[in-house]
Amino acid sequence: MYGLGGDGTNPSSSQKIYAAKGRPSDNPLIIHIAEPADAEKYAYTNSLYYKLASAFMPGPLTVILKKKDIIPKETTGGLDSVAIRCPSHPVAHAIIKAAGVPIAAPSANISGRPSATEVEYVIEDFDGRVDMIVDGGACEIGLESTIVLITENNGKDGLILLRPGAITYDALCCVCDNVTISPTIEGTLGENERPLSPGMKYRHYAPSAPFILLDGDDDNIIKFLQNEQKIKKCAVLCYDEEAELLDEKLLLPIGKRDDKIMHARSLFSRLRECDQVKPDVIYAHIPDKEGLGMALYNRMIRAAAHTVLKIDDNFDER
Ligand code: AMP
Ligand code: MG
Repeated sequence: MYGLGGDGTNPSSSQKIYAAKGRPSDNPLIIHIAEPADAEKYAYTNSLYYKLASAFMPGPLTVILKKKDIIPKETTGGLDSVAIRCPSHPVAHAIIKAAGVPIAAPSANISGRPSATEVEYVIEDFDGRVDMIVDGGACEIGLESTIVLITENNGKDGLILLRPGAITYDALCCVCDNVTISPTIEGTLGENERPLSPGMKYRHYAPSAPFILLDGDDDNIIKFLQNEQKIKKCAVLCYDEEAELLDEKLLLPIGKRDDKIMHARSLFSRLRECDQVKPDVIYAHIPDKEGLGMALYNRMIRAAAHTVLKIDDNFDER
């Protein structure tokens, strides 16, 4: 995932990031470090942090810890905690090391748009709004990092999964026997509820056209889509195997049916492509929630603003 970075210890740098991205300033940034042990300088770590570090860092895991004073509240959206991540990409690693400061960086997309997984989308959003764009090639994973909050209850450490990603719930359970899943991952928040992860309250990842997730068996969904394609300008995110059953116009295959890694890699770029063709509506299968599916489900349900259509044997054929 491309990031929009600045010095995480400098309040005015963080303010510039919010301005360039059009992001509400109570939605905190993640700081990126070169080595897992650098977290000591910016936050209060504990043994569970180091267990996570040895299992998953460098890699797509963000850990939330109590912050030290060197990290200003402008970077953390006013919170006393800070989100820390140690990326594995060699270009990101080299930039952070050369900077000598933690790099505060949200995803490099204008707030509310699908995250950028390829440099051309960063250019589309930020050309003229930032000093420099570094081309690090296409993203391998294509989803934002997994986010966990370390908690302590009666002297026992635990984790709350705040945002699912390529490091799955099952993988976290191998390192910690007390992992809970935040309800914000699937649900919408009530009016006065305060999310543990502030980003969860904003609409996210959304293409411009209405995006609708289809829930039903594959045969019925294909029949529904064949019918819709006759009467509407609809873009369809389908599995590769389905491509020959559908009209090829505005068809955007996302990978083989069971290849969730490929779905994750394609999702945001496919949603960006959808924006370019200006369809009346975009359809996709609703993902299951197993393994990497939880992260796909979380991104897609929010991109679709929770619009799910149940497709059964007798959908309304027109
Ligand atoms: P992005 O940079 O777009 O991947 O989003 C970063 C997300 O990390 C935010 O939207 C928050 O949901 C989450 N986050 C960052 N810092 C904290 C924190 N201190 N406490 C809880 N969640 C955080
Ligand atoms: Mg983002």
